[in-house]
Formats: sequence, structure tokens, C-alpha cells
Amino acid sequence: MTQSATSQPSRIVIIGASLTGATAAIALRDQGYEGELTVIGEESQLPYERPPLSKAVLLGNADEPDWVGDEATYADKAISLRLGTMATRIDRGRKVVVASRHEYPYDKLLIATGSAPRRLDVHGAELDGLLTLRTLEESLALRDKFTEGAKIVIVGAGWIGCEAAAAARHHGAEVTMIEPRSQPLLLVVGEQIGATFAALHRDHGVDLRLGVTVKGFAGDDGVVSSVQVKSGHSVPADTVLIGVGAAPNIALADAAGLKLTDGGIAVDATLRSSDPDIYAAGDVAAHDHPKYRRRVRVEHWANAKDQGRHVAGNLLGAEAPYELRPFFFSDQYDLGCEYRGFADPAKDRLVVRGDLASRDFTAFWIRDGAVAAAMNVNQWDDGDALQELVDTGRQVSDKELIAS
Ligand SMILES: Cc1cc2nc3c(=O)[nH]c(=O)nc-3n(C[C@H](O)[C@H](O)[C@H](O)COP(=O)(O)OP(=O)(O)OC[C@H]3O[C@@H](n4cnc5c(N)ncnc54)[C@H](O)[C@@H]3O)c2cc1C
Repeated sequence: MTQSATSQPSRIVIIGASLTGATAAIALRDQGYEGELTVIGEESQLPYERPPLSKAVLLGNADEPDWVGDEATYADKAISLRLGTMATRIDRGRKVVVASRHEYPYDKLLIATGSAPRRLDVHGAELDGLLTLRTLEESLALRDKFTEGAKIVIVGAGWIGCEAAAAARHHGAEVTMIEPRSQPLLLVVGEQIGATFAALHRDHGVDLRLGVTVKGFAGDDGVVSSVQVKSGHSVPADTVLIGVGAAPNIALADAAGLKLTDGGIAVDATLRSSDPDIYAAGDVAAHDHPKYRRRVRVEHWANAKDQGRHVAGNLLGAEAPYELRPFFFSDQYDLGCEYRGFADPAKDRLVVRGDLASRDFTAFWIRDGAVAAAMNVNQWDDGDALQELVDTGRQVSDKELIAS
């Protein structure tokens, strides 16, 4: 028998003990799940939230991230955490997860394996001193390198690169940020808003090199000493942060024969995979989003938390579509911003309310007369109104946006 008298699954296993997985486990108990509940996680710490790793921890304002729950949370809810444990196989025929030579049987399985930093496939990539930023250990290791006058090169001007640059400058390091595209954050915010982020970093003393591609790394005694770029120049470096994005951890799902798409695990509107007993959520899930009528894979804190909570209900049989739109935030120096929705800045029309130069504005990306996405920068009073615009997709004039 695999289902309890209440038709709940008897055993739920979650792979990935981070924001999505731990939130789902807690929500399962909060929603009345009484069966066996096991969370298998490769990292040895209790599940934690990553945003502070590139902000408070890196700035030196905290030594710990935000924990999803403390030990008592999991003990009180009878959530069996298997930390420091890598799941190595999903046997769908026998419905077991294999990890550290143990087998964990499941009736329902959630894959919440998140993503891992991309590496650069160039010469010298194996040198010491080339760091990535995903885990607490990596954040603390990077912070140790952010000392007065240290030469820090950041490859990639995405969110992680930009936040790390701000932290490095805070500690007095000399920062060079190298980005192959024409602006920081180009694919998310486009040329004009990207230029405001470029100005932000330059105003804070970052040597920002745009349109520049890394060719490789040179080192002394196995430790990186410079970054070589395609123009033939080289940039001296004591430490290099590779911030070129993250790739979903799909190897387990792939080996188990689950359908993959758009780089992630293909899930329907309810976050169910091509196997009806297996769900995926968070960074790793390529979700058939009912509001966008297309696959959307989101690598944001709010998505991990909200999908974690949502998928718990579906593991218990709710079959409810996940319909929330993406939301994320960033902090760099004295700039804070929030982004709601999902725009394509190469296609959508930009409308700005406020002043770009003083970095006090809200940007709207307009598609078919409605707000596809809105980003408030150092403006904090209109969150609900922006959410309403994005959620309803109602027709709106430029006049209304600029006046409101
Ligand atoms: C430095 C940093 C700063 C960020 N800042 C922001 C921010 O300001 N705003 C924002 O919206 N988002 C931010 N994000 C993104 C956000 O943290 C992620 O979207 C979120 O962590 C995704 O959660 P997840 O649980 O899906 O995946 P992850 O957090 O990647 O967790 C997946 C977990 O699964 C484990 N795992 C993988 N494979 C296995 C396996 N086979 N067996 C066992 N365990 C496994 C991994 O070790 C990991 O612990 C940031 C991310 C980083 C790295």
C-alpha cells in the first residue's frame, strides 16, 4: 500500500535542501501532511536563503545567511533532513532515490536541485583564485579576498557580478568588471536602464569594461595573476569572480529520463514533470506558465519560496496551477530595486517615470499597451500599484504611468 487512508502519499522525498525544498517540506506539514517526509541535501548547513550571500554577508554585515528554519523547526515538524548527502540516482521503476548508498522510497518526489554557477571553458580556468558565488562557504571565501587595495576582477556584469562589485568596493578593493555585452544586465533591463547601472558602478570607482570578452587566465605557481581578454590586453588580478550565470542541476532528472526543456526540467502548470509522481520547482523547473502561455524558468528568491509553498499542495493532490509572476530585488551601493513581471527589453517599449541620472525612477516595459514588467529603483511607495499593473495586464497610457 502506498497511500494512507486519507489518500495522502505515505512517503514524500525532496531532493535539494535549499529555499524551494525546505519551504515545500515546511508547507507540507503546515498543510496537514502526516506521512514520512525526507529532504536530501548536498550542502551540510541547514537550508538557507542565498540573497544575503552577495549582500549582507559579502559586505561584512552578517556572517550567516537567512535560515529557512532552525533545527527545532524541522524536528518539531518531523522533517527528516539528510544533509551533506548527494542524491545520485532516481529509480523511477522502483520509486526510490539513491543517496550515499541508501535508498529512499517515495510515493511522490519533488526535485528542487536548483542551479550551479556556470564556468568558463577557457585556458587557465583551473587556476586557484578563480572563485564562484553560490554557497555560504564561497561567500565567506570571497569576502576574505575583498581587502583594501586587492585587485579583484569580476567576469560578468549580471546581478551577482554587480552586487559583488559593490561589496568589493565597500571593502576598498580595486575592482575591474568585464562584460562582453554592451551594458550590465542588458538582457534583463535593456540598453538604457543598463547604462544607468554602468554609471552607478563607474561612479563608485569600478573599472567597467563593456563589450570585452575573456580569452583566458594566466597564473604564477598555479594561482591566477591576470585575466586575458580578446583584444590582447591583460588585466592584473589577485582574485577573479566568475559571475557568468547559473545552469540548472538537471543531471539526475536527465538520467532518470524525465522530459527536459529550455535548460530545465519540463513541468506543467501544476509543476508536475513528465512522470506524474515527480514534481520540480524553483530554479530547476521550466514551468508551463498559464499567464504567459510559454515555458518560464525563473532563478529568483520569490519564485523558489512561492513555488516551494505551492507545490506542497500539489504533492498532496491539489492540482492547482502556479500563476504568480516573477519578482526579484537587488541592492548595490545606495541603489535598491525591485522588478515585477517578465519583459523582453529588446522588443518591449520602455517608459520611464522619474530621473535616470539620479537613479530615482520606475521603468515600465510595455507590450501591446500593457505593462509586461516594472522596475522601481530607489522608489518604495508603489509596490502594490506596480503589482496590480503587471498582474492585470490592463491597458495603460504613457500619461498614466508617468503621472502616477
Ligand atoms: C549569491 C546569490 C544571491 C542571490 N540574490 C538574489 C536576490 O537578491 N534576489 C532574488 O530574487 N534572487 C537572488 N538569488 C537567486 C535565489 O537565491 C535562487 O533563485 C534560489 O536560491 C533558488 O532556490 P532553489 O531551492 O530552487 O535552488 P538552490 O538555492 O540552488 O538550491 C538547490 C539545492 O539543491 C542541492 N542539490 C543539487 N543537486 C543535488 C543532489 N543531487 N542531491 C542533493 N542535493 C542537491 C544544492 O546543493 C542546493 O543546496 C541569488 C542567488 C545567489 C547565488
